[in-house]
Amino acid sequence: MTATQERTTELRDQLVAWRRHLHMNPEVGFHEHETSAFIEAELKKMAGLTVTRPTETSVLAVLEGSTPGRTLLLRADIDALPITEENTFEFASKNAGVMHACGHDGHTAILLGVAKLLSENPGEVPGEVRMIFQHAEEIGPGGAEELVMETGLMDGVDLVTGLHLSSQLPAGMVAVKPGPFMASPDMLELTIQGRGGHGAHPEEAVDPIAVGAQVVTNLQHIVSRGVAALEPLVISITSFHSGTTHNVIPDRATMLGTIRTFDPELRNRAPELIERVIKGVCDAHGATYELKYEFGYRALINTDWVAEQLKEIALETVGPELFRDAKPTMGGEDFSAYLEKAPGAYFNVGSGSDEQDSRWPHHHPRFTIDEDSLETGVKMLHAAALRLTMPE
Ligand SMILES: [Zn+2]
Ligand SMILES: [Zn+2]
Repeated sequence: MTATQERTTELRDQLVAWRRHLHMNPEVGFHEHETSAFIEAELKKMAGLTVTRPTETSVLAVLEGSTPGRTLLLRADIDALPITEENTFEFASKNAGVMHACGHDGHTAILLGVAKLLSENPGEVPGEVRMIFQHAEEIGPGGAEELVMETGLMDGVDLVTGLHLSSQLPAGMVAVKPGPFMASPDMLELTIQGRGGHGAHPEEAVDPIAVGAQVVTNLQHIVSRGVAALEPLVISITSFHSGTTHNVIPDRATMLGTIRTFDPELRNRAPELIERVIKGVCDAHGATYELKYEFGYRALINTDWVAEQLKEIALETVGPELFRDAKPTMGGEDFSAYLEKAPGAYFNVGSGSDEQDSRWPHHHPRFTIDEDSLETGVKMLHAAALRLTMPE
C-alpha cells in the first residue's frame, strides 16, 4: 500500500461520519443553508485552503499548488430530493419529506476527503485545485449553470472532473466512457383545448381526453419511425390530467413530458417534430392546443482524452477487475454546464451491494450507498488531482 492509500484508508471513519451527518440533515436545491454551513466549517478546519461562497448555498475551496501546472475543477453536488425516506437506520433523514436519495451526501463527503488529503500535503500537487460544492443539481435551471454564468468559477480552469455514485454498479467499481455519456433532459407542457359536454353525447363535444390519448401514442411514432434507430431519443409523457367525474366530458387536458437526446441537432429538431404531431392530431379532431417547450441541461459529452486519463487512473487505483467501460444513460446532469467551458470528463463509482442493501434505484425512498464506495471516490479524485494538474 502506498503512503497515499494508507492516508486515504485512515480517512474512512471521517468519511462515514461526514456522510451520515449529511444524510441525516438533507436539504433540497437552493435551500442548502445548513449543508453549506457544515461544509464551510469542515473546510475551514483544514490548513491551506481558501474557502469562499460563490453563491448563497454553494462553497468553493481552492488549493494553490507549489509549482506551475494546470487548474483543475473538482465538483460535488450537495442537494437532496423532496422524497420521504423509508430507510430505518439511525442516520435516516430528520427533515420530513426530504432525503438524500441520489448519493449527493456521498459526493460531498468524498470531496471533503479529497480536500483533507490535499491540504495535508500541499506540496504534492502542482497548479491549482478548485473544489466546488455545488448546490441544486436536482432542480432546474441547476446550480452549475448559475456558477458558470454568474460567478468567475470557470475563469482560468483548464480541466474539470467529478463523479456520481451508482447503485447499479458493484461498490468500488469505477466506470468511465469517452464521448456522449448523459442525455439532455428537455421538458414539455401541453394543454389540449377541446369542448366540454355530457358524457352521453360526445358528438356534441370535442373530447380532450380522446385527443390527448392519440397524441400520447402518436408521439412514440416519432421515436420509432421519424428518427434513425441508432440515434437515441426518448419521449415520455409523465403526467396527464383531465376531468373530474364519470358523466362529464371535460374542456381540456394537460400533460407534462420529458424529451431526452444526445445529438444537439436532433435536440433542436425535436420541438418541431413533436409540435407537428400534436398539431396534426388536434386539427384532425377539432381541438386546439398550447405547447410550452423548455430546454433543460445540455447533454453531457466527455472529452475523449480526459476520459482516457481517468481510465488509466482507475486501472492504477482500483485495478482492471474493478474497472468497466461505462454505458451511456438517458439520465441528465448539470455537470454538462462545466464542460461547455473546459474539457473534462464525468465518471461513475459503484455503490451497490447486497450486504448493505444498497442496490435500490436512485431517487427511491430506500436508496442508500455502500459506504466502502466513499474511499474509492476519494482515491479516484485524489489521484485525478495529482495527475490532471501536471503541466502539459
Ligand atoms: Zn438524482
Ligand atoms: Zn444525482
